Amino acid sequence: MKQASSAEFLTWQRPQTRIGATPGHGDLGLYIHIPYCVAKCPYCDFNSVAVSSWPEEEYVLALERELQTYAGMGLFADCWVNTIYFGGGTPSLFSPVAFERMLSTIDRCWRVAPSVEITLEANPGTVDLLKLKALRSTGINRLSLGVQSFDEENLRALGRIHGPREAIEAIANALRAGFKNVNIDLIYALPGQTLEAWERDLQRALSLKPTHISAYNLTYEEGTPFHSWRKLGRLQPLDEDTELAMFTLTEKLLEGQGYCHYEISNYAQPSFFCRHNLGYWSSEPYVGVGAGAHGYSPWGGSQGWGFRWANERSPKRYLVRVQQNGHARASVEHLSFEQAAGEFIFLALRRAEGLDATRFFARFQKKVEQAFPVIGSLVAQSLLEPTEHGWRLSPRGIFLADSVFAEFL
Ligand code: SF4
Repeated sequence: MKQASSAEFLTWQRPQTRIGATPGHGDLGLYIHIPYCVAKCPYCDFNSVAVSSWPEEEYVLALERELQTYAGMGLFADCWVNTIYFGGGTPSLFSPVAFERMLSTIDRCWRVAPSVEITLEANPGTVDLLKLKALRSTGINRLSLGVQSFDEENLRALGRIHGPREAIEAIANALRAGFKNVNIDLIYALPGQTLEAWERDLQRALSLKPTHISAYNLTYEEGTPFHSWRKLGRLQPLDEDTELAMFTLTEKLLEGQGYCHYEISNYAQPSFFCRHNLGYWSSEPYVGVGAGAHGYSPWGGSQGWGFRWANERSPKRYLVRVQQNGHARASVEHLSFEQAAGEFIFLALRRAEGLDATRFFARFQKKVEQAFPVIGSLVAQSLLEPTEHGWRLSPRGIFLADSVFAEFL
């Protein structure tokens, strides 16, 4: 990726037509990454480090500094902050005071939409009722709990620091603390997991009545212990047929209980879709701060089709960089038409409603079929199906989504 100087960033402007005087126009998401964890789960490839103590004060100062830097950039200055997402790592390790500080910094330097969605990722092993109440009182209004499974043995195999009881308690406590929007993350297709065991996890999740459930299939990411154990034969991945049966069962059970399957791995009660993630899948701009965080602008960039940036990943080096420069951008990628348009398509295809051809034309001034004739052959192979507004993944395409997306890269 190419380096861009800070001065270059400051000169890029948003097209005037996109600037809105009211929320809903020129909306922006803020992603704030907190990389510290109590232990490293062996399947995890997120930018996270296991620590016994963490430099909360210093890290929050750096995040505040970065937020101020981006608020001062012409590209983002006039945006309305529509969503804020504290992800990690384990952000719930930080004290409620830290979130209060960060949120008031955001309030001071950006325009925040009155209906802002503020999500915090929390590990069930790090929160009790008192802490959840204090977190709720900071203005955080959506809690995403990394439950993964309700099965003791699965949790141990995944290296989680909590057991099923803590997970159930955390969900009940979140509701008691006043969170009306709670997500549960679950993982399926674990080695040796049966369809019946996965159904038990789903039924238990449903009995707790969260507003949102994310169900991810286990993947073996390079660089993780799970990846090496699989290579060494220490872990036997689940066969594809069972994995497909699990995916189908998830959809059937959750839809049967009124959840909308609105993205490949995400289900929500109506009006509880995750607005922050919808922003990613709609190619809306977001500013990412924190170690290893990414940001995206559909405006600016040396080719005029927007750009992406990535921060320094190491928390220690991140702190030094922010101190020196006010930001920690380690690389910037300037998007070409093909990259920006391809990304727009495959992100939209993640959503159940699929790709809107009119939105594509409005953004790129080109018809989708002209820019990507491959659409026709994906329809012919029954991987995509037409909708009233464009195309979406077919049921077969959902299971082969990665190969479909590769056609647009
Ligand atoms: S708690 Fe989450 S971020 Fe931390 S190591 Fe485990 S999966 Fe990764």
